[in-house]
Amino acid sequence: MKLSEVTLTHHYADLGDAFGARIDPTPFEHPKLVHVNPAALELLGIDTSEARNPDTRADWARLGCGKQLFKGSRPFAMKYTGHQFGVYNPDLGDGRALLLGEMERGGRHWELHLKGAGKTPYSRFGDGRAVLRSTIREYLAGEALAGLGINSTRALCIVGSDEPVVREKIESGAMLIRVAETHVRFGHFEYFFYTKQLQALQQLIEFICRRFVPGTAGLPASAQAEALLRFTVRKSAGLVAGWQSVGFAHGVLNTDNMSIIGDTFDYGPYGFLDDYEPAFICNHSDHTGRYAFEQQPGVVLWNLNALAHAFSAFVDTETLRDCLEEFQPRLIDEYAALMRRKLGLEIEQEGDQKLCADLLQLLDEARADYTLFFRALAHYRGERPAATLGELVPAAQREALDQWLHHYDQRLAHEHSDSRHRNRAMLAANPKYVLRNYLAQKIIEAAEGGDYRPLQTMLELLQSPFDEHPDCERWAAAPPESGKHLPISCSS
Ligand code: AMP
Ligand code: MG
Repeated sequence: MKLSEVTLTHHYADLGDAFGARIDPTPFEHPKLVHVNPAALELLGIDTSEARNPDTRADWARLGCGKQLFKGSRPFAMKYTGHQFGVYNPDLGDGRALLLGEMERGGRHWELHLKGAGKTPYSRFGDGRAVLRSTIREYLAGEALAGLGINSTRALCIVGSDEPVVREKIESGAMLIRVAETHVRFGHFEYFFYTKQLQALQQLIEFICRRFVPGTAGLPASAQAEALLRFTVRKSAGLVAGWQSVGFAHGVLNTDNMSIIGDTFDYGPYGFLDDYEPAFICNHSDHTGRYAFEQQPGVVLWNLNALAHAFSAFVDTETLRDCLEEFQPRLIDEYAALMRRKLGLEIEQEGDQKLCADLLQLLDEARADYTLFFRALAHYRGERPAATLGELVPAAQREALDQWLHHYDQRLAHEHSDSRHRNRAMLAANPKYVLRNYLAQKIIEAAEGGDYRPLQTMLELLQSPFDEHPDCERWAAAPPESGKHLPISCSS
């Protein structure tokens, strides 16, 4: 399909006025196209050549900032609420983004959500804008997680502008079109529950069930609510298992930033671990470490509890508790499976969890780079000294490393496949490229100066992070000391 042929429908707006407000975007006066993501075009069934076609650049610039609307588009600000840092906030909603509509492809619906589109009834004191820095961070992060096989929203394009936007300093405004199968968050359900709009709550449960939870059509409200909660519990457990396995910290796990279908959602001050540091806090404003890396599993369960509370309108407490109890075993199983893959263990054995835990403890004590260590382990063939691995830990930890490798060798002896096969499988499970904060920062600085080439390069690396890309070795390097722990604020 050509870009000009895109036509949207809007099932969410069709749910009715209780769900939000019909609002037009406030476009930029002088939009300039920053980037179009061919991978997102592919999802949507738009010819990927439309990303680079010089004739469509002006169309992208207008569509990507709301100056022109896709056919069928009905920009709609969704109302939701949520728990932020543990406290209920009734005043949330799409304060700077508009749901434009959706496209269907092969039975899947893809919603387009224009972020940075101007004020809405839910903007509170905000300006309704987003800045180039934060749109680039969101754009890259979606591809980074998707490239690692972790569910995430994606993004179609970024459009920049010369419009000044005040954050900690003056930045330039930008918009991004986010793509996801749904933009419904835990907080949507909380809104209808806390405002006692139970009919709308039921309508929303039915809407999400129809799209995502097979076998629920025609069931009574209580059965649909239970099925949806079980579905979300399972999806969220899988999601957080994925984050923990790749070293991703979301940073702001409020219930309004949790997708009902378990996508990584609403990227702010997120971070990938450089050094393995379980207590890593990526969000500069998170003074208590509520959303520290190692807290994520517990916090996701806390959020599921908040969601379950909203479902208590239809489901009894005993059943809600039973649904939530699925979380922990599911998380442990999924995390263990992912870590076994990273360690190249195809069969499952009793001591595997301990082997993995011992390694993580070693990496923690050594402050070793998480990504580099596992990538190097994927090349390991039992050699002594284990030179490459040894270089990744300080001298004080080398003996502990040798001991761990000794146990690892013993464990590998139980595997049926040879080391070449294992190395190949491990290279497909341990990325060479991740979106490190210092790299994101360099890409943002280049883009702010009008150079979008680093953005293009990083996007390509993140879309195939397990490949070698020999010309891009330096993008795989650990950050310099000054590039670790960059303060990333919530402002976006
Ligand atoms: P976030 O911190 O991006 O998850 O947003 C939390 C809430 O604040 C949501 O309701 C957003 O829509 C709203 N919000 C964030 N930034 C802005 C802004 N610049 N203008 C208006 N609303 C905003
Ligand atoms: Mg948010």
